[in-house]
Amino acid sequence: MPHKVALAYTRYLSPDGQLLGDLPAWADDFNLLTRLYRQMVLTRLFDQKAVALQRTGRIGTYAPTLGQEAIGVAIGSLMRPEDVLVPYYRDTAVQLMRGVRMEEILLYWGGDERGSDFADPAVAEDFPICVPIATQALHACGVASAFKIRGEHRVVVTTCGDGATSKGDFLEALNVAGTWQLPVVFVVNNNQWAISVPRRIQCGAPTLAQKAIGAGFHGEQVDGNDMLAVYDRVQAALERAQHGKGPVLLECLSYRLGDHTTADDATRYRPADEVKQAWLEEPIKRLQRFMAGQGVWDEGREQALIGECQGLVQQAVGNFEAAGTQAAESVLDYVYAQWPAALAEQREMFLERLARRGGGSNHE
Ligand SMILES: [Mg+2]
Repeated sequence: MPHKVALAYTRYLSPDGQLLGDLPAWADDFNLLTRLYRQMVLTRLFDQKAVALQRTGRIGTYAPTLGQEAIGVAIGSLMRPEDVLVPYYRDTAVQLMRGVRMEEILLYWGGDERGSDFADPAVAEDFPICVPIATQALHACGVASAFKIRGEHRVVVTTCGDGATSKGDFLEALNVAGTWQLPVVFVVNNNQWAISVPRRIQCGAPTLAQKAIGAGFHGEQVDGNDMLAVYDRVQAALERAQHGKGPVLLECLSYRLGDHTTADDATRYRPADEVKQAWLEEPIKRLQRFMAGQGVWDEGREQALIGECQGLVQQAVGNFEAAGTQAAESVLDYVYAQWPAALAEQREMFLERLARRGGGSNHE
């Protein structure tokens, strides 16, 4: 029998948007709730557009964030500008809130290095998207170590999926974070599937949050589809790290409503009934029902919001298309600060081959 560990689990709203208990005081701020709701809607509309752009061959692979918008919006709205995000590949919601532009996200997934060169100075120190599984957790600990050594009261937030928690890199990161009591918050987006591997055969522990206990720090679970709950727990985790009380592992229980990426077809391995059930618990409808029940949301506001967000998405697609294509050799440009002499010959060969194909540089 798996060992049971008593861990906190937070949920304020039932799947149909009914209040299950007393809310924290901040939840009375309907302007805040509207902002959080707006950001989830914007993320979903952008996400749909990104998938459509991939289907029509205008960007490469894309990892949809469908169904997990609340987690990213909570993180993005609570991190301070001086904090640093070390993201994984399903973080559209967080990146947009941090100040990464929609067209930059499209450039990234279009294979264009400019997509990781964020124009907004507010996000200059955030890391680019990490596609290798769990390696970013170690980078996050490196950044958090620097903050601690310099005596800076800044926090690192790093994210990953449920599958990443089985990787050595993740466990090593937890270990060093606990040993050195680093100001880092690990947010696990447990969307129940690691590509085609279901959570139940991913790990023998009943929760992923309890991995923090072995590393000597706080772990807890939250309903990742309940905007109010996830906001509340991300806020508590950030405060804890800010005040030198050590790292936190927050496991957000959600569901990946879309495919793993546009290179996947989840209908080949997931039961339709399970997905149908998950749609009943998704975060946007849940908060919308709650707000409608409180008398602060209606169909007119919904339609106005959708129109506004669609306009923003369309504008970003226009900016993305106007950016043109980057030279093929740009794939080499950002690997090293100074190109190593030992690789000079390989670079020359690559450039010669590009020139022979006529597909060489079109930038200065
Ligand atoms: Mg997953």
